[in-house]
Order: sequence, then structure tokens, then C-alpha cells
Amino acid sequence: MAKPTSPEGLDVIIIGAGVGGLYAIHKYRQLGLKVRAYEKGDDVGGTWYWNRYPGCRCDVESLEYSFSFSPELDQEWKWPERYGNQGEILKYVQHVADRFDLRQDIQFNTTITSATFDDKTSRWTVTTDKGETITAPYCLMATGNLSTPRKPDIKGIDSYKGKTYHTGLWPHGGVDFTGLRVGVIGTGSSGVQSIPIIARQARQLTVFQRTANFSLPARNEPMDPQKEAKHKAEYPERRAGAVNTPFAIAGYPPPTKSALDVSAEERNAAYEKKWQEGGSISFLYAYTDLLTNKAANDTASDFVEGQGDRRGALPERSSDRHQAADPGYQLLRDLQSAAREAGQHPQQCHLGDYRVGHQDCGWQKLRARRHRVRHGLRRHDRRHERDRHQGRRRRLHP
Ligand SMILES: Cc1cc2nc3c(=O)[nH]c(=O)nc-3n(C[C@H](O)[C@H](O)[C@H](O)COP(=O)(O)OP(=O)(O)OC[C@H]3O[C@@H](n4cnc5c(N)ncnc54)[C@H](O)[C@@H]3O)c2cc1C
Repeated sequence: MAKPTSPEGLDVIIIGAGVGGLYAIHKYRQLGLKVRAYEKGDDVGGTWYWNRYPGCRCDVESLEYSFSFSPELDQEWKWPERYGNQGEILKYVQHVADRFDLRQDIQFNTTITSATFDDKTSRWTVTTDKGETITAPYCLMATGNLSTPRKPDIKGIDSYKGKTYHTGLWPHGGVDFTGLRVGVIGTGSSGVQSIPIIARQARQLTVFQRTANFSLPARNEPMDPQKEAKHKAEYPERRAGAVNTPFAIAGYPPPTKSALDVSAEERNAAYEKKWQEGGSISFLYAYTDLLTNKAANDTASDFVEGQGDRRGALPERSSDRHQAADPGYQLLRDLQSAAREAGQHPQQCHLGDYRVGHQDCGWQKLRARRHRVRHGLRRHDRRHERDRHQGRRRRLHP
């Protein structure tokens, strides 16, 4: 029986030291409660600690994707780009942990293995992988909704002889794909972000896709000093206003109309404006029902698919995808077409900045009858030898 190791007089056990856990430590301390957080990793950051894959970047603008509890922090922190990348966000979160002295209440390298509530004593008892038992009246699961990497369920995966990586458990020192044949499984957000960067290094890249996704152009750029100054001057109102918005982001005028209540011309003009602005949240704010009404969502999907056609730069569909002059666009054209063929209307679309250079970049639709083999992936009709595979990480927010 493990010896009880509860810190004396503990009020709140917090599980996880991502942005949620850190804020909880700060908030509960302000309320005069004694807290202790337990974190599996060896540092703070959660999502931004674990997901170090190439291209990992936030899709919410950095001036918005930040803690809102400290007006001084709001004013002092300088974000270098419109959207923070993983390294910048992790640096920011580490700064917050130091600045507000949060680490003293965090026990790192510790996984909570069970949590039980006793109705009679009204106390939680949690156990750790270190054999500790901790009790307190409150227990907060700040464990995140995307913090458990899921290994793809592919037959024979454990017998694969090449190297495999998962975007959610990326090596801290990075991975050099130079000169290698690489397969990427999945085209969700992490796949879409990492594929162009891996393609710049790899000798050959094949993307295995089961379900087509769309993505919008973010239009990332260095932080505009004027925009930053304006945003910072408006921070108190923006932070207060964000609380009442669906995505907790102020600054986009809240939509008032259904996409179906306006003419096609008006709708396309609104989409065009959002398209030029960049970013998915802003686009989804164009109308009230883009995420709740399929017919409304179809109008957005059609607009975005039309963007690919309008660019005119996409090569024609080719039976030999390895011959495409611009493999990045070829891949994206395939993603779009696959979605159309499957009758899907994903909630996010497009491909704007998905150029990957001259590398040999192909894609394969991974079907149900997929099999893993020792040196590569085999789909129903063809085998692909690979030196590296990257597993997929699916992200569920818009
Ligand atoms: C790749 C990726 C990209 C994302 N991009 C965006 C984005 O662009 N915009 C956006 O708004 N959101 C994004 N998200 C969502 C993101 O997870 C949240 O914005 C936010 O970071 C969640 O913070 P959190 O503290 O709730 O959880 P997390 O950051 O997931 O932190 C949870 C922590 O709990 C720890 N933990 C879990 N179980 C245990 C246990 N049993 N014992 C001890 N510790 C445990 C984990 O190690 C982790 O450190 C993204 C998520 C992922 C995975």
C-alpha cells in the first residue's frame, strides 16, 4: 500500500500543466486555495510541449491565442508573427510559468493513474505512477482533449523496420528527412502543416490519405507593428468581448445572417473578403450557420473549391501523379477532388500556400484493406517502400 504523500492542507489537485492547468494554478491561488499540479511531461506547455512536428503552428492569431488574466503581460509580450508557431507559443507559456511563479506548485514527470471520489468524505484520492497517493476536496482534470496520441490501427505496424514518428510525440531534437523516402499517413491539420516542410527535405514523399480535408490560407506574416499597437490598445474591450463569442475570439464582427438569406453575389463577395483576410475562424464567422446547416456550409465549400480552379495554376489530373510539375498543387487538387467525389463537404477548405517545391510528392488513398509490411505500406493495389513514416494526429476543432 502506497504511503499517503498528500501535501498538507491541499485543496485542489490539478492534473496537467498545459495552458488550462497553468491558469487553474494561478486562479485557485488567487482564491486563497492550496494547489498542486501533476504533469506527465518534464515541462509546462501541454499541446505545445508535445507537438513539435515541423510546421506546427496555431490557427488562432497570436494576439488572441494568449492568456487574458494579466493586462501587463498582454502589453509586454511581443509576438513575432501573426500566428504563433509551436516554439514561440511554448516560449510564451514557459515565460508565464516563470513570471507567475507557477512551477513551485507543479510536480513534473508524474502521471496520474487513478482518481476516485469518496462520497462519504467528499474527497478525491488520486494515485501516481510513482506510487504516491494524494487526497484533496477538489480535483481538476486539465488533461486537454487532444493530449493522448493515437497510434494508427494498422495491421503489422509493430513489425515495420523503418523509423516511425507521431506528430503528437515528436522528438525534441527534431528529425532530419534529408534524402529519405517518407510516407505521411493522414491529411488532418498536422499532416497539412508538416507535409510541405517534410517534402522540402525528403527525396520522395508519399501522402496516405483516408479522408480528405480542406484548409484555408492563413496568410501568416511578420507581426504588423501598427496592428499590434491597435490591438494592444483595445485589449481590455477585446478580452471582455471574447467571452461572449463562440470561439472566444473578439475582433471579427459577429455574423447576423444565414448564408442562405443572401444572394449568391453578396455571399461570394463576403467569402472573397474573408479569403483575402486569411484564417479559418474569420471565414467561419461570415454567416451564422456555416457549422450548423449543411446547405449553408455547401456554399462555403463551393466557394473554396472554386478558388482552386480560379487560380489556374493547378495541373490537370494525371494518372501518374509523380509527373506533376508542381507536386504540392497536384496533391491539393487530389485532396479537393477526392472530397468532391466522396460527396463530402468538410468544414474547412483550401490549400493556398501548399507549394512544396520540386520534390517527388505523390499521394495514395489509404483504403480499408490496407496492410502494413515490414519495409513500407501496402495499399490494395501497390506497395510503397519507405525509410520513415509519420503517423497522423487528428485535430477536431475548426
Ligand atoms: C497539434 C495541435 C494543434 C492545435 N492547434 C490549435 C490551434 O491552432 N488553435 C487552438 O485554439 N487550439 C489548438 N489546439 C488545441 C489545444 O490543445 C488547446 O488550444 C490548448 O492548448 C489545450 O490546453 P489544455 O491545457 O487544456 O490541454 P493540453 O495542452 O493538452 O495539456 C494537457 C496536459 O495534461 C497532461 N496530462 C494528461 N493526462 C495526464 C495524466 N494522467 N497525468 C499527468 N498529466 C497528464 C498532458 O501531458 C498535457 O501536458 C491544438 C491541439 C493540437 C494537439
